[in-house]
Amino acid sequence: MNWILREVRMLLPEGEREGDAWIKEGRWQALGVVPDKAVGKEVRAKGMYLLPGLIDTHVHFREPGLTHKGNLYTESRAALAGGVTTIFDMPNTSPPTTTQERWEAKMHLAQNRCWTNYAFYFGATSDNIKEIHRLSPKAVPGVKIFLASSTGELLLTDEKILHRLVRESPVRLVFHSEKESLIQAAQRQYPSATWEKVPDLHYRLRPPEACIESTRWLLELACESQVALHIVHLTTAQEVNLLRHRPAHVSAETCPVYLTWSKEDFPRYRNFLKCNPSLKRIEDQEMLWRGLEEGVIEVVGTDHAPHTIEEKMRSYYEAPSGVPAHGYLLPWLYTIGQARGLSLSFWVEKMAHAPARLWNIQQRGMLREGFWADGVLFDAQASTRVPSVGSAQHYSLCRWSPLAGRTLHGKVQATWVNGQLSFWDGTFHAPAAGRAVDFA
Ligand SMILES: [Zn+2]
Repeated sequence: MNWILREVRMLLPEGEREGDAWIKEGRWQALGVVPDKAVGKEVRAKGMYLLPGLIDTHVHFREPGLTHKGNLYTESRAALAGGVTTIFDMPNTSPPTTTQERWEAKMHLAQNRCWTNYAFYFGATSDNIKEIHRLSPKAVPGVKIFLASSTGELLLTDEKILHRLVRESPVRLVFHSEKESLIQAAQRQYPSATWEKVPDLHYRLRPPEACIESTRWLLELACESQVALHIVHLTTAQEVNLLRHRPAHVSAETCPVYLTWSKEDFPRYRNFLKCNPSLKRIEDQEMLWRGLEEGVIEVVGTDHAPHTIEEKMRSYYEAPSGVPAHGYLLPWLYTIGQARGLSLSFWVEKMAHAPARLWNIQQRGMLREGFWADGVLFDAQASTRVPSVGSAQHYSLCRWSPLAGRTLHGKVQATWVNGQLSFWDGTFHAPAAGRAVDFA
């Protein structure tokens, strides 16, 4: 079906412009002035924003193998409801995505089931460099390397192999940057501590030095080649400062969870804010914002990492790390940005334009005539209430969010994926319209 959106405030790459938008055969046919002869279903949306669908370059949708936490179908719907139209999923599933065969199986799983466009990272192990050599830069967004253990079994600390990967990978290397030996040393210091005894336990056990030392080392490693290197979920002020002097082929990400909460929030949330790297001090959070504002950190990714409520209710040592982010993303970003005087355009840059540029995504990531019509209609005057923990109204299968019970500013009115209206005012419209992402 074709669409004509009337009197919308379009967030174009060159700035905001009020006008009409025409979606024809899956693409943006006209942005600004729509010819009189144009045919399409009309939507009157005066005063609402039209922005490119967000691109989340960091999610854990848990399929295959961990589907009691989430799957490609449920979590892509949650993403869509929050204004996301493209996701890049991480390889720490069960089994992990560490062979060509498993990567292809995952692409197959996503077909007709993923509501957003999709791409899948490949996981590096100590013995799959031959598989990595064969990866296609046109289809694979990157190789994920876990320098410290987190959810799943992927961990790579063998420096010889890391040096080879940095010189030989045909695709971007994406790093979880924490130094495993410093985490283990911290754990020896607190052999059986509990949240009751140590209010910022997770911060103590995954200390800032682990991040800082690892990122310092990565920046040296990056100088060995021109292979693009991306550091995900940055958390410390010192890393932002280190990145001010990075080579041009290094990029970085931080996540909404680190921009919203700090270690001071642990007594209230405990395991529900247990994620890796740990939440840091409020001073670190301030520097992450500055890093984003100054362009030292290019992109925001969510690190959407669902776990069940039951899993999060376990003791500290038994509870898995990770926090869900999808369902309410755009209102969440809009609300925390507003508190700093940042407009919606800020998030369009960090979660659409910048990832599209950085990854050379073909014909997506901005409102441009001829591009795929991935778009979001956002009502800044309305609000979004996040359901309470356990409510069946949550979009994510895990049915909770650290935002539970909050009222956020703004509301996602509608989301189009490849020109298909997929979400309208709280209701999903089948079929799932996601396609595999192409990279130039
Ligand atoms: Zn992650």
